[in-house]
Formats: sequence, structure tokens, C-alpha cells
Amino acid sequence: MQAKIKMKMQNNKRILLCLAHMSGKEQEYIKEAFDTNWVVPLGPNVDGFEKDLDAFVGQNKKVVALSSGTAAVHLSLIVSGVGPGDEVIVQNFTFCASSHPVTYLGATPVFVDSEADTWNMDPDLLEAAIKDRIAKTGKKPKAIMPVTLYGMPYQVDRIMEIANRYGIPVIEDSAEGLGSRYNGQMLGTFGKYGILSFNGNKMITTSGGGALITSSEDEWREVMMYATQYRESYPYYQHEKIGYNYRMSNICAGIGRGQMTVVDDHIKHHKYVQWLYEELLDNVKGITVHSQPNTGEYESNYWLCTITIDPELRIKGQENAYKNIVNGAVGGAGGVIHRASSAVTDCQPNDNVEALRIYLDKAGIEARPTWKPMHKQPVYKYAPAYVNGISESIFKMGMCLPSGPCVSDDDMKYIVETIKSAIC
Ligand SMILES: *Cc1c(COP(=O)(O)O)cnc(C)c1O
Repeated sequence: MQAKIKMKMQNNKRILLCLAHMSGKEQEYIKEAFDTNWVVPLGPNVDGFEKDLDAFVGQNKKVVALSSGTAAVHLSLIVSGVGPGDEVIVQNFTFCASSHPVTYLGATPVFVDSEADTWNMDPDLLEAAIKDRIAKTGKKPKAIMPVTLYGMPYQVDRIMEIANRYGIPVIEDSAEGLGSRYNGQMLGTFGKYGILSFNGNKMITTSGGGALITSSEDEWREVMMYATQYRESYPYYQHEKIGYNYRMSNICAGIGRGQMTVVDDHIKHHKYVQWLYEELLDNVKGITVHSQPNTGEYESNYWLCTITIDPELRIKGQENAYKNIVNGAVGGAGGVIHRASSAVTDCQPNDNVEALRIYLDKAGIEARPTWKPMHKQPVYKYAPAYVNGISESIFKMGMCLPSGPCVSDDDMKYIVETIKSAIC
């Protein structure tokens, strides 16, 4: 394998987790928007970007470009009829944007834990959860949301078989899985709806943005109405349903059109990064690179390379892990930071993982823990959860390594050498 992206200068000397990379075409599309005054949330770039996405995901799907992936999750739930008092089954091991929109609607997320092979929703546990919810509440969950975590396809065949058997629609959160495939078919096209995200750190970016993949003309029309304040056709504003202002800007879509000219190169580069980490970390005892099952169905886009660290592995400085309250890290925004009340919580990565994060950070390398499972989030204390210990144990041992289009061979060699030198 060889690197596919021709590197541009980084905007930052640090090696970041997943930094956006502009191909050059983005500026042309944006300039066109400026030159023609299409500086609104509709226009030729939005149409063009959607056409590109339709062609890219295939399966005769129709894609709606939106202001964020979170907005796409929200709209997918609305058009699935989710409302107050309903339950939605959500993968437990995920970023909060999968489940938060369930709560926006007054519904309750029901969390289902992962299996160890893909780190995604465990089919057996899913079926147990469905049965138990029906027994306890007398009604079926309104939707099932598996996630393509770090780009890794979930067990599509089994999850879809169970969902179909119980007649529950599947909303695929493939925000991290643009270009991932299962049996050759794109993730996000198996369910009734699919989520994509184009946030700054995703496989491609529109600076901020997302999309909803729909399965029929009717669904597409309804999503489009909800995304634009649900305006009826009168000479004045007539509203018969509550809508949202969720459409993508024509400027952002210009970036997206440019990114679509290099999306295949990005995916190739992420796979190459994964491959090189696997090679370089192969003989490092105590560190395991998480790879797709080699049964033939799975094709991850490897959005982020993830590793697990053996609890027995000693890392320099681990005796001092969690001794001090961290200022910021992934918390806060725009300089607004809540001071944490304690340096520790009741569920956190092992001391050696935190020590390695700090060691890499001091060497100018950004590494992050894996997502903290939702059933351990204080805000979801009330939510029903069907757990088997898998996501919690991965969270305690897991770490994401820099994997973006700007990560070079030299960067990866430096990162792996730094990891080796951190081991006692
Ligand atoms: C990024 C992400 C989202 C949300 O996308 P935004 O564009 O950031 O709103 C949803 N789910 C998962 C799993 C994600 O990683």
C-alpha cells in the first residue's frame, strides 16, 4: 500500500486526530457561489452536492443535505414518528449525537451494548432488549439505531434480520462510516434512514454539516419539508406542522462538492493509515490494533485507527494519572470551560491509557479515549440499558490515534516510536 493524499501544510504543528484537508476544488465552488450571490441555504452547490452523494451511496437512495449530522438524526426520528413517551433502541457505545435527539422529542433512548468483534450493537442483546421492552411497556420500540463506530460496519445481516422480524425500522448512524461497506454495499443504505456527518473531523467535511439518506420519494419529500420550516404553498407563510431550519448552506455545500472529488482518496488514505499502524504496532506487546473481522463481509473506511492497551502494560508516569483536574481537554468550547468537580469519575480509562494520552500530548500528538458508553453518562442515568460489559471494558482500554488525511508516514513512525518510548 502507499499513501494517497498529497500533503498540504498543517494549520497546526501538532499531529491532530483527524484534520480536514482541502483539495483545491472547494474554492472554485465557493467562488462560484459568491460570484452569483448564491449565499443562502439552497442553490446549485446544494443540488450538486446531493447529486454527488446520491451517486456515491447508490441503491437508488435520495440524500438530503443538512446543517449537521445531529440534525439528520433528529429529522430521521421525527419522520419515523418518534414522540413523547416512545422508546428508541440506540447503540450504547457511541457519540452522544446518536441518542441526544431522541430526548429532544421527549422519547427515551434504550441502550444496547456491543459485541467484541466490531464494537457495535450486539444482535443477541438487541433481541433480548426488544422482547423485554415489549414485556415491560406493552409496545415496540419505535426505531433501532446501530452505529458504524470509527467506520467499522456493524453485523448488518443479523441486525436487519431481527429488526425486520419485529417490524421495527432501522436508522443507521453512519456519521463516521461514509464509504464503509458490508457485502459491497454502503453503510447508511441498509436501513430506512441513514445518517452522514460532514463535521470538520469526519471523512469529508463541509466545515459543519450532515445528510439524511432516505429510501423513497415520499420520505425524501417529507424530510425536505421538515428541514425548511414545513411551509405550505401559499403566497404567505402557512404552517400546518412544526418544522426546523436544518438545510445546508450553499457555501458549505460548495466545500462538500469539492470534497466529493477527493472522497475516494480520503478513504484510501484512512485505510492506508490503518494498514501502516497495524504493521508498525505488530510487535509491540500489550497494544492491539482494532481491525475488521476478516470474514469477507466487512470493509471499514477506518475513519479512526483505534487501539486497546493491556491493563498490565506499564506506561511512564501512570502512577500520576488522574492526580490533577484536567483543564479543558475535550470539554467546553470557545474558551468556556466548566471546571470539573473531581479529577476522576466512576468510569474512566485505565491509568496507563491516561498516562499514554498525556505522554503523546507532550510530544505534540493528539490521542483520545474511545467514546464513553452512554449508560455511564450521568445525563442518561434514567435510561434503560442492556449491557454485557464489552463497551465499558473497551472504553477503559481504548485509544484513538491520529488518522486523518494529513497524517504522513513520518508522523505515524514518530507516533509509534513515541508510544514505544512511553512503555516502561
Ligand atoms: C459526528 C457524529 C454525529 C453527529 O454529527 P455532527 O455533524 O457532529 O452533528 C452523530 N453520530 C456519530 C456517531 C458521530 O460520530
